[in-house]
Amino acid sequence: MGGPRGWLSVPAVLALLMSNQVAAEAAPRSSSVFAGTLDYSGATWVPADPADYSFAERPHDYPVQMIVIHDTELTAYSAIEKFQDPSSAVSAHYVVSRTGQITQMVAEQDIAWHAGNWDYNTRAIGIEHEGYAWIPGTFTFAEYQASARLIASICSRWGVPMDRQHVIGHNEVPDPNDPSKFGGYGHRTDPGPYWNWNLYMSLAQSYADSLPSPPHMMPDPVAVTSGSTATVTWQPAQTCHVPITGYTVVGQPGNLLRQLPPTATSVTFNHLQAGRNYTFTVTAINADGHDTVTAQWRCDLATMTTVYPSPPQVSGTGVTFSASVSGCPHPLYQFLTLAPGSPSWQLAQAYSSSATFRWNTTGLVAGTYYYTVWARDASSTGATCTDPDCFDAYSPATSYRLTIQPCPAVCDLLYLVFTVPR
Ligand SMILES: [Zn+2]
Repeated sequence: MGGPRGWLSVPAVLALLMSNQVAAEAAPRSSSVFAGTLDYSGATWVPADPADYSFAERPHDYPVQMIVIHDTELTAYSAIEKFQDPSSAVSAHYVVSRTGQITQMVAEQDIAWHAGNWDYNTRAIGIEHEGYAWIPGTFTFAEYQASARLIASICSRWGVPMDRQHVIGHNEVPDPNDPSKFGGYGHRTDPGPYWNWNLYMSLAQSYADSLPSPPHMMPDPVAVTSGSTATVTWQPAQTCHVPITGYTVVGQPGNLLRQLPPTATSVTFNHLQAGRNYTFTVTAINADGHDTVTAQWRCDLATMTTVYPSPPQVSGTGVTFSASVSGCPHPLYQFLTLAPGSPSWQLAQAYSSSATFRWNTTGLVAGTYYYTVWARDASSTGATCTDPDCFDAYSPATSYRLTIQPCPAVCDLLYLVFTVPR
């Protein structure tokens, strides 16, 4: 863990006067399983508080395409404490001290909150450096060396190239609310004019050149079926410095093989047999190795096909909704309803292979209800996430009106009994 030892040369009073560069860079959370591990052997693992970052499964859900360089405006020790504080709502994957000690606080597969821009956070690894943006001479050579070795390792392990398009300062991150401004929504200026980009990038490039440069696939490829064909699509793979030489796409069963040039990003298989469960894998290849990822089937259209009986109906009527989807061989369906006056959609029937939902309206108040169906393939986690879950396709919301239950004969009788004067 990077301690404050190297920091003692800067007057404490000056430290107190500086603005807090890492504050208020939070972003929305997503949920997944907890995982915290050391990714870089040159670092010490000190976990950030789980309230200060988002769990993810990069590169399967989001690509890692860049590195964002920050400075702490604090001692490294205080920055580490801050990321351990659940109320700070900020974090970085790594903190590098002025002595060159590296502390890893968020697993690289997870999303740290540092850029002040959720989209950039999802695609970046964030590194904090002990020092001040607007004071000359606060970054040390040991710090540049240690951080350059770290990003060279990220280059090798994730394929993030060592150039200024992919290694950027926090001051180069656009404001998500105003793309004419930079530094995230907080308009941060770190690492500032005294950060030596030329030294840092030349060290990083020379370290990276000595490391392996295998391909790295981006988020999982997508397969869509139509009739007897399937089209597999992927994002271009990344490498540190050795170019991709091509892709191999394999369909099973049947050893269906396609070899493609490095520019390819999709391929279509024809004459597939009905009723067979196909799986497609995409492999990126270069001289240093290969990376294979299995495609997720993607439902591309969901439709509510029948609603029986058609509205309006009195409450108490049993209503059956039926849905269909296209594009995916093993669709799962989830039905949701929005009650009259309710602000939020409610889960009516959780994801299952059943394309029908039987709505029991007994006891429901009269009014206009809305219903929709979400769909995803059994192989897919769902590309779009919102409460309460993720989906790949959904049907437009449709209304269903329930009317007041007419008073049955017994009700009239009771009314008479209780209103007849004694
Ligand atoms: Zn920053």
